Amino acid sequence: VTVLGLESSCDDTAAAVLRGGPGGPEILANIVIGQTDLHAGYGGVVPEIAARAHAEKLDIVVERALAEARLSLKRIDAIAVTAGPGLIGGVMAGVMLAKGLAASTGKPMIGVNHLAGHALTPRLTDRVDFPYLMLLVSGGHCQFLLVEGAEQFTRLGGTIDDAPGEAFDKVAKLLGLGQPGGPLVEAEARAGDPKRFKLPRPLLDRPDCDMSFSGLKTAVLRSRDALCTAQGGLYAQDRADLCAGFQAAMADVLAEKTRRALVKTGAPMLAVAGGVAANQVLRARLEQVAANAEARFVAPPLKLCTDNAAMIAWAGLERLRAGGRDDMSLAARPRWPLDTSAAPMLGAGK
Ligand code: ATP
Ligand code: FE
Repeated sequence: VTVLGLESSCDDTAAAVLRGGPGGPEILANIVIGQTDLHAGYGGVVPEIAARAHAEKLDIVVERALAEARLSLKRIDAIAVTAGPGLIGGVMAGVMLAKGLAASTGKPMIGVNHLAGHALTPRLTDRVDFPYLMLLVSGGHCQFLLVEGAEQFTRLGGTIDDAPGEAFDKVAKLLGLGQPGGPLVEAEARAGDPKRFKLPRPLLDRPDCDMSFSGLKTAVLRSRDALCTAQGGLYAQDRADLCAGFQAAMADVLAEKTRRALVKTGAPMLAVAGGVAANQVLRARLEQVAANAEARFVAPPLKLCTDNAAMIAWAGLERLRAGGRDDMSLAARPRWPLDTSAAPMLGAGK
């Protein structure tokens, strides 16, 4: 079975061709066109600009993906598309294109939840069985999901304010580093002392799996301002120490909440996805937490951790195998919680 996947829910326009076979899935093409430069001057993704760019670029990424896979549209067996959650203009552009392709080829169309795409990626890259615990840490999301089936997710908790990537980016900004901030903060932190500044570990006193990062970011801001007042500016060492302290606090919170989520679910495996999963300090901590809980640890390659269409094609294939498909009434959804459990097991789901 060969699936064409489409993704346009945020600031990446992507198309991929995936072939599912007895030997496991094979990615034949995985094309991503980012929009970072388009939004650079605005301090964030501008929905209208994103929607227009998706509308312009979707045809191009599909063409490129098919060319790279050396397949014509006729040889595609199904079309999977992100139907939410995300910026509605972009999602609509993708869904409309998928409908057009499905109508003109007569092939089945499958609407995919973007978060399900991230959450099922470990099964695309590694031999992974259900159930497993997924920690999704990106620029826009932070949540724990117990994945028990291709369409069975229980949310155990997540951030109640900023996502970790967002916090990394804001800290980079207030320390005068560039964007995206995560890799720059990580690089600065290598020369820093994580213990010099006493930064908070928000919500660690609460037994649930919820997290909060906006206070941590504000604490970095306060420390910066105190230094600037006291000494008239920041020295390179101050910046490195602030980055190291921030990163350590972030890793402490994520590691401890992950430990609790593993205990609560008894999951035999921990998987991470999202751009922040690239952070080496965090990765090492999570690996340790998994080892202590005697759980396996899987982190897909970064290219498949950040937004891409291969994960959408894969999640579509998993749904298709379970008998799922959509018709022309498929709607684009700005919000689409992934939690499918009738009764949240911890009462922590939001
Ligand atoms: P979403 O997928 O939730 O809509 P997004 O597309 O912004 O959000 P990703 O592309 O998964 O998120 O990840 C980008 C984020 O990851 C950015 O905030 C970036 O700063 C962060 N990031 C990347 N590398 C690192 C790193 N080494 N350490 C910490 N954060 C990182
Ligand atoms: Fe994403």
